[in-house]
Amino acid sequence: MAAKRKLGLPAQMGIGMVLGVIAGLAAPYINFDAQWFKPFGQLFINLVRMVVVPLVFTTLVAGAASVSDISRLGRVAVKTLLFFCICTMLGTAFGLLMGDLFHPGMGLTIPSENLASKDITPPTLGQVLMNIVPINPFDSMAKGNMLQIIFFAVLTGFSLSLCGERAIAVTTFFNGFAEVMIRMTTIVMLYAPVGVFALIAFTVASQGLGVLLPLVKLVGIMYLGCILLVLILYFPCLKYSGIGPKKFLKGFSEPLMTAFSTCSSAAALSSSLVSVEKMGASRSVSSFAIPLGNTINMDGTAIYMGVVTIFAAEIFGIPMPFDKQLSVVFMALLASVGTIGVPGSGMIMITMIFTQVGIPLEAVAIVAGVDRLLDMARTTVNVMGDAVAAIFVSKLENDIDPNRGAAMEE
Ligand code: ASP
Repeated sequence: MAAKRKLGLPAQMGIGMVLGVIAGLAAPYINFDAQWFKPFGQLFINLVRMVVVPLVFTTLVAGAASVSDISRLGRVAVKTLLFFCICTMLGTAFGLLMGDLFHPGMGLTIPSENLASKDITPPTLGQVLMNIVPINPFDSMAKGNMLQIIFFAVLTGFSLSLCGERAIAVTTFFNGFAEVMIRMTTIVMLYAPVGVFALIAFTVASQGLGVLLPLVKLVGIMYLGCILLVLILYFPCLKYSGIGPKKFLKGFSEPLMTAFSTCSSAAALSSSLVSVEKMGASRSVSSFAIPLGNTINMDGTAIYMGVVTIFAAEIFGIPMPFDKQLSVVFMALLASVGTIGVPGSGMIMITMIFTQVGIPLEAVAIVAGVDRLLDMARTTVNVMGDAVAAIFVSKLENDIDPNRGAAMEE
């Protein structure tokens, strides 16, 4: 008798997603209250968020401690940040181009009376910079303030490497702790298929398909834009790094499905970190690029900002000449840095851009109906963009090794 083959986790998550769609569609017909799905999905989000802070902190300390040369640390940081900026700006420009070409808002007349949305004030550059240095690193960890945790972890790792032999026990401790957190992430992900099922079922049941119909073109253009950006920008970068698209999609499917179903980059952070390393990215690069990118690099949100700005401008008949579109590219860079990896935060940050180019903020309320669907796409691209950066910078540093995965499985 042939031995039964066990389904891998990504396949189980895929099945969870399909069953989630079916359950979500069926729920209203059998009078099943969709609220029942909610706690099962939330449990998944809580589990993955539980491991994030210790995982990021320990892997980053261990990664930075293994770099004995400060100029390499600086080089990695500069290359990663440059890559983030370029991709985010390209993402917005691409979103605008998609909007210009396909006119998502043309012919759409949605009454905007009784719609309201809140304006937000972006933080100043000074505030952003001051926010990076924690006054109390334990408080930053308790609050999950990723930028402050990254800052403190890099400094700790670097100090450890300067101490050398004298602090070898502490370095070994962090190396071991990082391994433990990686293992814990793998354990937590075993619950992912159930979590994905519940999240998708809840979304489909509570949003319904009716909300989609008037805005179907916008959703279609957004998804097309995301797919094209992946094909035009990400895949060539991966190819250059020696990782083919197939290998990447297979090796990175867990974080992608987590991002798609939770709409939270933060929820996908731990499995991203583990997956890119398994694909061969360097620990010292990925432990820096993935958590940092998770907080500041949002290419999917950038595409969204481009497409939705054109959509809103068309609905309200506001002209968008080239110079205005160029200002959107720069504003979106700031807005996506300010976007945090939780559901819907891009929709709040887009008010910065609307205010800048004179689009009534009521546009946000119009998009809100389909924002969850747009969020699924943009979060997936956000998470993918960080992984591509980690792999690409590892390649630039000549520190990519496809056999790392096998070593980690042992
Ligand atoms: N939900 C997105 C993320 O977690 C952020 C956004 O709303 O654009 O990456």
